[in-house]
Amino acid sequence: MIDKIRAISEGISRVLYPESCPLCGRVIGGKELCCNECMSKLNPIKSPVCLKCGQEINDQETDCCGDCATMQRHYVKGFPCLSYNQHMAKCLSDFKYHNMRCYSRFLADIIVRERGKEILLASPEVIVPVPVHKSKLRDRGYNQAEVLGAELGRRLKLPVDTGLVLRDSKTTPQKGLSNHEREENLKRAFISSGKIVKYKSALIVDDIYTTGATVEACTRVLQSMGIKEVYYTSVCIGKGY
Ligand SMILES: [Zn+2]
Ligand SMILES: [Zn+2]
Repeated sequence: MIDKIRAISEGISRVLYPESCPLCGRVIGGKELCCNECMSKLNPIKSPVCLKCGQEINDQETDCCGDCATMQRHYVKGFPCLSYNQHMAKCLSDFKYHNMRCYSRFLADIIVRERGKEILLASPEVIVPVPVHKSKLRDRGYNQAEVLGAELGRRLKLPVDTGLVLRDSKTTPQKGLSNHEREENLKRAFISSGKIVKYKSALIVDDIYTTGATVEACTRVLQSMGIKEVYYTSVCIGKGY
């Protein structure tokens, strides 16, 4: 019933406020969440992929990418969807910094379409969005991972818990740090809320996965709380723009 009401009210608001393509800004109609031209600019992950983080790899002989071979990875497996490119960079930046929370529908759609089945097969019991520091939350008014996690939770019918992992201190900016320094830096940034949890498995959600240090740090916190099986999903995977 709630889904029906939601669908009707979304339909009405689309007529009153036509939506724009999250990538190019053109007005789009119908049920499309992105214009066809921009859809063709997305780069869904293609095999072969790293069996750990899920990013594309070149060498068919190896199981893991260079990062996963050298860095600690306590999560079971990752479900990234798209290779990060300039088109997605603009979209994710608007989603994160420019109040385009409405893009969460498009972004959650990508996750469900690209990796939804595999996520449901892994059957995580709860969705955990990567938390942001309170001061950033104050500046921006929202946490984009939380907005995305909520939309994904609705679609996959999974509960979302934003009170398990907390962001502790303001981290030193990650730019210019080596992978190992990033990991050390982030290890201090995420802490357990101390909540008693019944979950045995969880899915960490973020908009983009870069070095894996954030997901690793959150994984360690969840595992310290007794959630042994941790997965992650992100809309994009890749480095810098
Ligand atoms: Zn477009
Ligand atoms: Zn990897």
